[in-house]
Amino acid sequence: MGQGLSCGANQENEFYGAVKVGDIETVEALLKREPSLLYHTTVYDRLSALHIATANGQIEILGILLEKSSNPDVVNRHKQTPLMLAAMHGKISCVKKLIEAGANILMFDSLHGRTCLHYAAYYGHFDCLQAILSAAQSSHVAVSWGYARFVNIRDARGATPLHLASRQRRPECVHILLDNGALVCASTGGYGFPGSTSLHLAARGGSLDCIRKLLAWGADRLQRDASGRIPYVVALKYKHRACAALLNPSSAEPLVWPAPLKFISELNDEAKSLLEQALMEANREREKNILKGTSYALPSPSPVHSDSGLDDTISEASDAEVCCICFEQICTIEFQDCGHQMCAQCTLALCCHNKPNPTTAHVTPPLCPFCRSTIVRLVVAKIKDCDDADHEMDISSPKLRKIILDTKLRESDPRTLVPTKVPVLKIGEC
Ligand SMILES: [Zn+2]
Ligand SMILES: [Zn+2]
Repeated sequence: MGQGLSCGANQENEFYGAVKVGDIETVEALLKREPSLLYHTTVYDRLSALHIATANGQIEILGILLEKSSNPDVVNRHKQTPLMLAAMHGKISCVKKLIEAGANILMFDSLHGRTCLHYAAYYGHFDCLQAILSAAQSSHVAVSWGYARFVNIRDARGATPLHLASRQRRPECVHILLDNGALVCASTGGYGFPGSTSLHLAARGGSLDCIRKLLAWGADRLQRDASGRIPYVVALKYKHRACAALLNPSSAEPLVWPAPLKFISELNDEAKSLLEQALMEANREREKNILKGTSYALPSPSPVHSDSGLDDTISEASDAEVCCICFEQICTIEFQDCGHQMCAQCTLALCCHNKPNPTTAHVTPPLCPFCRSTIVRLVVAKIKDCDDADHEMDISSPKLRKIILDTKLRESDPRTLVPTKVPVLKIGEC
């Protein structure tokens, strides 16, 4: 397959060239004349037309090829599937199209034993990473393999997608993987330095953002690699001074995302992004003190989730809805079933207060500080607009406010609810 006489070779080259540049007319004409071109591959790398189309993001050509029923999982010389190449080159539309066509997300290449998830994480294409994870959730993979196992899938040298994203300085991918259950303390077999954790690899790569995320998800600064080094030592060795400052075991501990709490895993996106924002803000304040001596200038806060539609209702709301714990922030999170409200910062501190004990799987959910009832769920607080004509109830007492629908606030950017100057939050304040 693949090699023919010289006229056949010319035809092949013309075909691959047309696939590469997205010349639909030529591709269709050549396929009509010689349908078997679909199954030919290049001489050396054994690339099929599907590989060439996906690597170059030619979505229309890909559609034509898939319609003619070619196998979406055809492999090249290195046993790479078209899906792996699409994830490598960040061609998200091709990734989606291949998954729709039934491409198998659980194939391993022969180079490093990596899957398409490894490729997306390594090259930092978080949209592709997300698409593959969504596919894993709804496919046979979740049933036969288990979703958590897929997220933590290892390559031939024991590297998970989280290891690769951490080493390659891909904070968005690190975030998505952690959010989907990637094990933050898993160590590699032979990848990087033996026994490295994601935190070691992030220290080696020197990405402060990756280190922030890993620490916020509970990465252990004291975990050692096979030669007994903690991540701090690795950062020092490669002269990443700011990273070393955060990794220094003697510097203040960051707030950690309370992942094991049941209601945290069930948060809706809006409430989750509010709390994550609060977490990053609180840790940023802590960083300011840690990095003071390192001459490292903190970058402006990067939004975790980008929403649109800012408006000015917040300043009005802030008069009426001050958090009764800190008296600084406005209430943005409501506890259910009791209906009490607090700001995101205080909610987070409350949830981080009871750190899960690693030796016991059991985690007791925190109690509402106002009425001591168990918190079943967290939702984004709905606040009444002050301009609204029909005041149905007195909201002057922020301690006990009922849910009042305010679409205006809900449409606004949750980030604006958190002032940029946030006081350092002490755990246990609640
Ligand atoms: Zn508060
Ligand atoms: Zn309560």
